[in-house]
Amino acid sequence: MERTLAVVLSLVASSGALSAQTADMILTNGVIHGHPSANSVAVADGTILLVGNSEEMDKVMDESTHLVDLQGGFVSPGFIDNHNHVFEAASDAGSQCELSLDEGLRGQVSYLKACRQQTPRGEWIMGYGFSIESLLADEEGSTPLQVIDAIFPEQPVIFMEQTSHSMWVNSAALRQAGITRQSPDPQGGKILKDEETGELLGILLDNAGDLVIELAWNSLRNQFEQSYQGLMQGLEQARTYGITTIGDGRLYWKRGWYEVWQKAEESGDLTARVSLRPWIYPTEPMPAQLTYLKSIHSDNHSQLLLVDQVKMYSDGILINGTAKVLAPYLFTYIPDEPYGINYIEPQAMSEWLQELDKIGYGAHIHAIGDGAIRESLNAVESVRAQGSKKDYTLTHVELVNSKDLPRFAKLDVTADFQVGSDYVAYHEHQWAEAFLGAKRTRALMNLKALFDSGANVTLSSDWNVHDINPLIGIGNSLIMGNTGLPNASAALDAYTINAAKSLGIDDITGSIEVGKSADFAVLSQDITTLPPEAIKSTEVWMTIVRGEVVFE
Ligand SMILES: [Zn+2]
Repeated sequence: MERTLAVVLSLVASSGALSAQTADMILTNGVIHGHPSANSVAVADGTILLVGNSEEMDKVMDESTHLVDLQGGFVSPGFIDNHNHVFEAASDAGSQCELSLDEGLRGQVSYLKACRQQTPRGEWIMGYGFSIESLLADEEGSTPLQVIDAIFPEQPVIFMEQTSHSMWVNSAALRQAGITRQSPDPQGGKILKDEETGELLGILLDNAGDLVIELAWNSLRNQFEQSYQGLMQGLEQARTYGITTIGDGRLYWKRGWYEVWQKAEESGDLTARVSLRPWIYPTEPMPAQLTYLKSIHSDNHSQLLLVDQVKMYSDGILINGTAKVLAPYLFTYIPDEPYGINYIEPQAMSEWLQELDKIGYGAHIHAIGDGAIRESLNAVESVRAQGSKKDYTLTHVELVNSKDLPRFAKLDVTADFQVGSDYVAYHEHQWAEAFLGAKRTRALMNLKALFDSGANVTLSSDWNVHDINPLIGIGNSLIMGNTGLPNASAALDAYTINAAKSLGIDDITGSIEVGKSADFAVLSQDITTLPPEAIKSTEVWMTIVRGEVVFE
């Protein structure tokens, strides 16, 4: 209530000052989203000064004002990608070799040999690009560990699976990480072993793999420079597609990533506002993590870099059998865990959220299975009961039990979805039937059910898991039909104002209102009037962040 009043007062104050202020820039002769009778927006000092028609612009214009004729273009609030791995997605760091996405174990041999030829001896080799289903489909003959050891007998090697939720490693890598047949599974992870012999298979699921890749990553030379360059390439992609604010997918702060971001902000190289989300390490003690998180916290909305939400995983993913489900898997690579596993156990998550609330953090929680979604909602319920007003978002939200649907709105929890791939648009989730059966597979990815429940629904790319272009996600959410969003305006909200709410910055961005940050995506057409396929092919003409043109 107090906050609403403060906003009203500041709006009155700024409109009072209008006549005295001159616009730095005026976008005119366009369609302005949310303002059907206006055709222009005036910007001063990085904020929106006035929205109105051409005549009204006269009073804030002088010879210093930069006038941009939009020739009928559409001014959308700048896109807010609520979950984007902009730091990693375009980076060469940690990707010396690429395997085949489709090949089984035998088919990968030529890729492994090519990798050996092109990499130096002695150091860790890091690569990516296989799929666990293809790799584990070959039941006869050698194990993945035997195959990789034959080509890399001494040098430690780690390959990240396409989803990033499992790693293929050789014996040298296992030795460096201290993993043996006797090693217990770490929290949130599984060390795959032969069911009969107990031999290691060279496949590490979820957090078991994360722990090893952290070792490899921190051995990289030039990782700062490589990461910086990767981040610049990622930001370039974001601005090309009208993205003015990014919700960071995860910040691995034990890999020196925070320092890279800080440098980018100091150097004036950030071309988007970014809500950085430091990763909660499941196997590290809480107090030391809280101390670090406190030291980097920032919710100063005048800065481009914000740090007031963490990223945590409740569970893994369905294909691995590591997503936490309410009824057992029909098939799983980890039969000793028929319901999947937690990165952060339910009780621990409640404690985390309470401690984080005290030091100013909300949370962006990866929750895929109906079990993880229920447990995460329980954790938010407990912290709400303690009086927390922070922003909480569950991301991916693939399988929701109907009993939990109304709890999102009730607990003020955002549901964040990624729909930027064709298989999601056309509900081609057949891959899941072997694991979940037909009924649960049909229930996957139901945006409509959450939207109808009154929950705050956001769309995001999870780039490079899906297409970074928000217009693809917006179009796909409509192609989805009775599991998608009801119309283009609702879909645009999911990529703008709803995402701003999820990030706790709807007072400064997410819509075109006087006093808000001048964050715009200028598009070739008014997408709220277009059919889905035409939305997907709409062009981005300009991207403007705080009144600065960052792409044209
Ligand atoms: Zn992600």
